[in-house]
Amino acid sequence: MTTLFISDLHLDSSRPAITELFGQFVRREGKSADALYVLGDLFEAWVGDDDPSEVGAYVASALREVADGGVPVYFIRGNRDFLVGQDYAAHAGFRILSDPAVVVLYGKPTLLLHGDLLCTDDVAYQAFRTQTRNPDWQAQFLSQPLQARLAFAAQARAASRAHQAKLREGGNDVRFETVTDVTPATVEATFARFGIDTMIHGHTHRPAVHTLRLGERECTRIVLGDWYEQGSVLRVDADGYRLESLQA
Ligand code: MN
Repeated sequence: MTTLFISDLHLDSSRPAITELFGQFVRREGKSADALYVLGDLFEAWVGDDDPSEVGAYVASALREVADGGVPVYFIRGNRDFLVGQDYAAHAGFRILSDPAVVVLYGKPTLLLHGDLLCTDDVAYQAFRTQTRNPDWQAQFLSQPLQARLAFAAQARAASRAHQAKLREGGNDVRFETVTDVTPATVEATFARFGIDTMIHGHTHRPAVHTLRLGERECTRIVLGDWYEQGSVLRVDADGYRLESLQA
């Protein structure tokens, strides 16, 4: 049996083929898995569980089928969908895990994260993250009318695009690549802090399996890919792992 990991689908109404690919994947593979983990940015944006989006309803019903079949489904919030709440989780049949979370996969303790916590070179983003994860900020935000929240989300996406463009300014792609990827020292500190040798995350959209030596330990960091042009899935079983793409 296999445990499945996906992240960074960024689902919204603009890419129906990817939403469909996700539906097929969870119905075909999810139902026979040991568990399904979604490590954040399942949605391109999420302004509250009361937003009646078609994509949200479709995803909930697909995940619900998997959960109702007895397969546990877990979710870690991403930087786009950090406002996914307990109402939606109950509706879709998944459990929300903390970020980071330690799980034991076939006897191996493994650290799961969305991945944004590892990108500490992006100081402006980390400040935004701290602000928006504050329960008081969230309560205040969620108390606003839905239209105001949707407008805020559109504005935040525009600001994020401008921030990324600024990082690329003057053709400085090295700076962009550094700031938007994980900070190596933070990765090492995170392995050390949790005392484990495997982590799985998404967020950077740079699918890869990295190995690094920390003292006596050989550590593995698996990065999931995004679902922009195709799907990306990590399949883990008792024998190891396979990071693969899914064709749309
Ligand atoms: Mn992300």
